Amino acid sequence: MNQSDSILTQSPQALTQQLADWGIPSWRTKQIQEWIFHHRAVSFEACANLPKTLREKLSSHYKFYSAPLLCVTGHEGETRKFLWKLCDGNLIESVLIPAPAANTGHTSSNSEENRNTLCISTQVGCACGCKFCASGRSGFIRNLAPEEIIDQLLGAERWNPHQNKRLIHNLVIMGMGEPLANYENLMKALSIMNAEWGANIGARKITISTSGLAPKIRRLAAEEAQYRLSISLHAATDAVRSLIMPINRKYPLKELLDACEAYQQTKGRMISFEYILIDRLNDTPSQCQGLIRIAHRFHAHINLIPYNPVEGCDFKRPPQETIRKFTSELLAGGISATLRQEKGGNIDAACGQLRLRKMKDLSEK
Ligand code: SF4
Repeated sequence: MNQSDSILTQSPQALTQQLADWGIPSWRTKQIQEWIFHHRAVSFEACANLPKTLREKLSSHYKFYSAPLLCVTGHEGETRKFLWKLCDGNLIESVLIPAPAANTGHTSSNSEENRNTLCISTQVGCACGCKFCASGRSGFIRNLAPEEIIDQLLGAERWNPHQNKRLIHNLVIMGMGEPLANYENLMKALSIMNAEWGANIGARKITISTSGLAPKIRRLAAEEAQYRLSISLHAATDAVRSLIMPINRKYPLKELLDACEAYQQTKGRMISFEYILIDRLNDTPSQCQGLIRIAHRFHAHINLIPYNPVEGCDFKRPPQETIRKFTSELLAGGISATLRQEKGGNIDAACGQLRLRKMKDLSEK
């Protein structure tokens, strides 16, 4: 047993085996995992109904991972951001979104209302370098371990002001980092967040977003779990996409869309596309027509997101009238589209902004 193994990532089988080696009955496995995933304990000491000797054995064998919450921004009913401090001092963000319909690629229904979504990070920094993104600006630092991915969900539930009911119902893997570039750790974390013995979030309530790692999309198609897939498209032609997303030079639109088609054929599942509207770049009538063609090919839903300014970046949000026209043209073209209306509109609204601001504050102290 590796002493740095996290208790968060132990399967019931692995944990039961370890308990058996200690001569401890298997029913303790369920108790331990309930402490982690239902009561969201942060240490073995907190697991009150476990015998002291067992708590000591567990402490000496497993790491009980839990990142401190540095701050939360936003107000009740609005998008809220969590900033976590990892063991090595690195900072990551998660975002709580009160209206999941805007992010999961599906229009709202009554049963989905008031169902919260948590947007989770998978890397510290990001190597993709999208020009509109705060996370890509400081480059790639490292992949998150599976427990660091899972702990964002457990941490948000720990923060939940209404402890009598569950806070998070949907997950979008769209925070800092390119999720499919941290493929193995992400799959392990998702399998635990999806498992009945784990966080028990249905696979169909989990959306993985990618900037377009075509080979990994094909790999994802071969996975058993039915996660949803969302593509950060942001342009309808290679010329514009390569300008704002360097990944497009490696996997141009044809390669990306062919991989999406293969995914859709294998999984029989709908794909959604994210499209950040940037003034006079990808908000033109010709980009809109290109987007309509792509959306028709996949019968895909489009999530339109007006650009949120990022410090040090020259892009601008289009005027309201342009946003309105672009949206109506899509709808007139027979496309299902949602315009994400940011509530709150604080200066850290763009992905990765809060982390950058905090890092700057800390370095100035
Ligand atoms: S948008 Fe996503 S993939 Fe692109 S740099 Fe930002 S975190 Fe990375």
